[in-house]
Amino acid sequence: MEALCRLPRRRLPDLLKIVEPATEGVLAEVPRAGAAEVDEAVARARRALPAWRALAPGARAKLLRALADTLEDHLEELALLEARNAGKPIGSARGEMAMVVDTIRYYAGAPERLLGDTIPVAGGQAFTVREPLGVVGLIVPWNFPLNISAWKLGPALAAGNTVVLKPAELTPLSALRFAELATEAGIPEGVINVVVGPGRTCGQRLVEHPDVAKIAFTGSTEVGRTIAAAAAATIKRVTLELGGKSANVIFADADLEAAAAAAPWAVFDNAGQDCCARSRVLVEASAFDRFTALFEEHVRAIRVGDPLDPATEMGPLISAGQRDAVASFLDDGDPVVCRGSAPEGPGFWFAPTILAPQTRDARVLRDEVFGPIVAVIPFRDEEDAVALANDTIYGLSGSIWTRDGARALRVARAIETGNISINSNSSVRVTTPFGGFKQSGYGRELGPHALDAYTEVKTIFYSTS
Ligand code: NAP
Ligand code: MG
Repeated sequence: MEALCRLPRRRLPDLLKIVEPATEGVLAEVPRAGAAEVDEAVARARRALPAWRALAPGARAKLLRALADTLEDHLEELALLEARNAGKPIGSARGEMAMVVDTIRYYAGAPERLLGDTIPVAGGQAFTVREPLGVVGLIVPWNFPLNISAWKLGPALAAGNTVVLKPAELTPLSALRFAELATEAGIPEGVINVVVGPGRTCGQRLVEHPDVAKIAFTGSTEVGRTIAAAAAATIKRVTLELGGKSANVIFADADLEAAAAAAPWAVFDNAGQDCCARSRVLVEASAFDRFTALFEEHVRAIRVGDPLDPATEMGPLISAGQRDAVASFLDDGDPVVCRGSAPEGPGFWFAPTILAPQTRDARVLRDEVFGPIVAVIPFRDEEDAVALANDTIYGLSGSIWTRDGARALRVARAIETGNISINSNSSVRVTTPFGGFKQSGYGRELGPHALDAYTEVKTIFYSTS
């Protein structure tokens, strides 16, 4: 102890307390990294790059399959860690970890399928190959910590890049465990590096680092904007998955019972802390009262509580700050249709809430809430529905409920959004592209398209003259 006290103060590790949102207790303490640790991680990734990109496609595929298998063997452990650290229901956490495994396994098929083109030209042969970018920085948020990381890790690694992953300070535990499991699975040292530290130091250093070729970012539109601007200095490639204010459009001819039963999970999944949350429910005026009454019944029935209880459907919010930000929407004076229930005592709890704003410029219709508050608003006809759905800076997801197939397809094409579902609220699948229009970002994750964001096209010409 005496020896420890004599150490210069700056040599003592700066410990980050990781809080469990359901109890407000400290779940773990992790050394907090700074810019120097980012530089070390980038250097390790750079050293690992030549061997990783030179691996035969089949060998890289085999290692990624081994990684998927190892993750699957530890699925329950990872799910528990994520449920506790992010405060999400254990059932949801298991589903997310299954998607992590599926994502890595899907991209294990990619190294052997990174095809190029042969293009007819005069005097020789021209063809294209796909080269990795180099060292890629991955910056992710706290709402789906490991899942969103896997959407980036899978295609980045498959294409032969090495990575530095910066999880959100609030939720680093699953990423740290992922890195250990990757080593166990045989992924070589330096290919996957995790740095746990604040965005304004560690994140920013990654964005500015001259040896980082690309930043794949998921988070708020506000931070995304600063990242795009900072990345311009080194012409870094950037993909941005940002905020959303998606619409759930309910026509009067829809199966209203089915639409109302599904609507809570279109917005309150992950306690509303979901970029795809359909936080604006647009309902054709003639069905407004009927739909709203059905919707209310389902919202009142939501079981909010202990994330580790298998019966729980919604957990707490991530932090006290997030709860305050969400609660501020209740101060705007929009009429409250209903509030569900939430536990009292420790934990960042917030009851699911339906608001019925009386004007179309209400803040709850404009700003991302990122919590369990939803707004219902009537529309006149198809044209009005499309105009209202598009009256936002965002364009990430959305839903349309109607029995009229032609109208469903017209509206699906007319809404400015990267993903839209008809008679369903699903947004995300391993095999299909996901990403935003407008200020919800650019670039696509998942599906075959994600590989474009982690490779450069090189044209080679071989003269035959
Ligand atoms: P955030 O505040 O933008 O943070 C996201 C990540 O960026 C965190 O790791 C954060 O680090 C880091 N960061 C913060 N400032 C930075 C800077 N100046 N330079 C580099 N990195 C920086 O977002 P959040 O509050 O964690 O998450 C909520 C937001 O994410 C919502 O707006 C939501 O819509 C969006 N989101 C989008 C998607 C999508 O796919 N489109 C998915 C999920 C979430 P620290 O937090 O450690 O400081
Ligand atoms: Mg934030």
